[in-house]
Amino acid sequence: MSLRIVVCVKYVPDATGDRHFADDLTVDRDDVDGLLSELDEYAVEQALQIAGDFDGDAEITVLTVGPEDAKDALRKALSMGADKAVHVEDDDLHGSDVMGTSLVLAKAIEKTGYDLVIAGMASTDGTMGVLPAILAERLGVPQVTLLSEVSVEGGVVKGRRDGDTASEQLEASLPAVVSVTDQSGEARYPSFKGIMAAKKKPVESLDLEDLEIDADEVGLEGAWTAVDSAAERPARTAGTIVKDEGEGGKQLAEFLASQKFI
Ligand SMILES: Cc1cc2nc3c(=O)[nH]c(=O)nc-3n(C[C@H](O)[C@H](O)[C@H](O)COP(=O)(O)OP(=O)(O)OC[C@H]3O[C@@H](n4cnc5c(N)ncnc54)[C@H](O)[C@@H]3O)c2cc1C
Repeated sequence: MSLRIVVCVKYVPDATGDRHFADDLTVDRDDVDGLLSELDEYAVEQALQIAGDFDGDAEITVLTVGPEDAKDALRKALSMGADKAVHVEDDDLHGSDVMGTSLVLAKAIEKTGYDLVIAGMASTDGTMGVLPAILAERLGVPQVTLLSEVSVEGGVVKGRRDGDTASEQLEASLPAVVSVTDQSGEARYPSFKGIMAAKKKPVESLDLEDLEIDADEVGLEGAWTAVDSAAERPARTAGTIVKDEGEGGKQLAEFLASQKFI
């Protein structure tokens, strides 16, 4: 059986950079460097390993909803070894929350065709960790989330979900949505050959019209959630230095007690 895998990858602001809210209290995605969410690299890695089990009889499409620069995230996933990419971009997406984003992803996945959707456990900016479940609901297929190990055999996706006290073995018939954790296996680095090959791989661009989505279903207007206010964190102060002149231990204990640590 030929397996069609769609991997959802998000382009996120670089966490090491200076991040801001824009005037409309959405995340400022224009003025910051971005990259493929590191947690989504694990999803791409698992897709590549599953495709390997199918001896090449599998096709991996990487999909992102994001601004023009989000193509960088797609290129990285293609250079890791994915076969093709789909980029959904539309000015009316600005301000979409998880409901809008999941609607767009679901429509794009249906248009692309799929047997298995793989997502990360959470994005490194929004970190809600709910999108895969909402996506499965929208697609009307089973979800098996937060897997540390995943495989596909005989039209069934199987995996292990590790909890604090027990590990569960889970499975679902395809088509299905899974999400994978950062324990699922180290993501590979793109090779030079992979980077060169990625330049020639197809990247399909879609907008809301292509997906038959009305502008008022997404964006700030269609969002179910809103940010009322945002304030920058106060700069870090120098901290308290305790000099030990015989009373150091006592002073330390008093300080910790005053901060309610002890
Ligand atoms: C241009 C743009 C503007 C946005 N503006 C806002 C805003 O103003 N307010 C707001 O609340 N939200 C906004 N969003 C949506 C938001 O950034 C998230 O994509 C969405 O809310 C999902 O939340 P999360 O990232 O916490 O998802 P999680 O549930 O943490 O993500 C889990 C997994 O879902 C997949 N995934 C998540 N997002 C995407 C994506 N965009 N493309 C492909 N795969 C994805 C990844 O595999 C990820 O690991 C915007 C998104 C875009 C693209």
